[in-house]
This record gives sequence, C-alpha cells and structure tokens, in this order.
Amino acid sequence: MKSKDTKLILEITDLHASVEDQPILKGVNLKIHAGEIHAIMGRNGSGKSTLSKVIAGHPAYNVTSGSVQFQNEDLLALEPEERARAGVFLGFQYPIEIPGVSNLEFLRVASNSRREKLGKEELDTFAFEELVEERMKLVQMNPAFLERSVNEGFSGGEKKRNEILQMALLEPVMAILDETDSGLDIDALRIVASGVKTLAKPNTATLLITHYQRLLNEITPDFVHVMSAGQILRTGGRELAIELEKSGYDWIDNKEGQTEGT
Ligand code: ADP
Ligand code: MG
Repeated sequence: MKSKDTKLILEITDLHASVEDQPILKGVNLKIHAGEIHAIMGRNGSGKSTLSKVIAGHPAYNVTSGSVQFQNEDLLALEPEERARAGVFLGFQYPIEIPGVSNLEFLRVASNSRREKLGKEELDTFAFEELVEERMKLVQMNPAFLERSVNEGFSGGEKKRNEILQMALLEPVMAILDETDSGLDIDALRIVASGVKTLAKPNTATLLITHYQRLLNEITPDFVHVMSAGQILRTGGRELAIELEKSGYDWIDNKEGQTEGT
C-alpha cells in the first residue's frame, strides 16, 4: 500500500506563507500518498497550525511562494469552501463556537454540500438525523449534542469529538487534525483515536498535527515529520516520535542528525 505507485493525495512544494507580512512558513516540502498516516510534530510556534490553515485556505494567511497540489489539482486556486467540498478537512486546534446555529443543521448543510460533490443525494432533516446518529456512535456522542448550538458550551473533549463527527460525515480524502489530542483525558483520547483510525481508508490520507507522542501510541503513523521555524527539518518513522518524547526538540535544531544523551 505504501509503494510508489499509490496515488499522491497532497504535494506541498517549497511553500512559503506569511501572516500580517511576517513570514511563518519558510519552504515546506511534504508528499502524502493514499493510505498513509503522517504526523507533524514540533514545538509551539513552529508553524504547524499555520500550515494546516494555509492548506484549508484561511484568509489571514498569505502564500508568498510555492505550491500545494491536491489530487493533481492546484489547491491554492480554490476558495476555502471549494477545498472542503473537494475533500480537504481540517479539524481545528481551537474549534469555534457558533451561537444560534444548531449543530444538527450545521452538520447537515456541510454534509450535503460535500455529498453533492460526491454525487450522492441530498438528505432532508429526517434522513440526515438517522445518518448522523449512526455516525455519532463512532465517537460515543450523545444525540442531545445535535440540538445545541455548534460547540457552544461544549467541553474541550466534546468539541474534539464533534470535529471527528464532522469528519465522519464529510468523508474527506485528506483529513488534517490539528492537536486533536490536546485537552483530552485518556478515555476521550482513545475514542477520538479509534474514530480517526476507522475513518482512515486505503484511498484517503491523514495528517496528525500533535505536540505529544501519546496520540501516536493510539494511531501509528507511517511517517513522522518535525517542524521547526517554518520548515520540516526531519522525517522518520514512528521511532522519531519516541526519540522526541525522550530528548525534546533541541537536538533537531542544534545537532543536525545527532541525538543528545539527555
Ligand atoms: P504551532 O501551531 O506550531 O504552535 P503556529 O502556526 O500557530 O504554530 O504559529 C507560528 C507563528 O506564527 C507563531 O509565532 C505565531 O505567533 C504566528 N502566528 C500564527 N497565526 C498568527 C496570526 N493570525 N497573527 C499573527 N501571528 C500569527
Ligand atoms: Mg498549533
């Protein structure tokens, strides 16, 4: 499955991006094939969330050079909602609350927009409720959360489960999960991780952005990348995450290729 013939889903080439004229991404290169799970680690402020937002098309982030190809299409030429419809999903580090908008209706509109693109029929409220209640089991969420406003008053863990529920409904080709493990207790972490694993298919790709290796105990990545100061400085397998847990990030910056004994 991980051979060179598998389909390239995402190809990022020498990507530079800035926020408010301040360069944050300084030449990111990354290739993700179908069936692969990648993890990006790196200390706070290294540009991980910026990379995910640039891929999703957040308007505050300006791409100054480089390219992002999604299934051989120029992703950067698409509007954010077109990217979502095409199958790029971003689970936010800080999911936003949308007071006054019912979670059910929000999920239904998003899901129908994606379904249209997939050539599936639009679902009315009743049909959708059935689908969503089935998918909620994946993240062990109570259907009462459908009646509430999107994320309003949800705990950190509930917000993250709601993100995975969105993902389960949108059936993305490229799922990017930014710090999905942060703020989760071990039970919630396992539920979220098992949802993500269930949704990862041979024809989809997953990018986990995480600080900690504990999520990677639950979901084994095929590749681990370390980001530092807006670049991916190092790529390895699962063992790289373990090394980082042990030795921290300093050796990546300072000792190109060497591990410290601490
Ligand atoms: P990470 O997710 O790796 O912790 P971020 O991508 O969130 O890092 O941030 C990288 C750098 O970009 C930080 O120095 C941060 O302050 C800056 N940055 C990110 N978003 C914004 C923004 N909207 N406005 C100003 N600075 C930002
Ligand atoms: Mg971040």
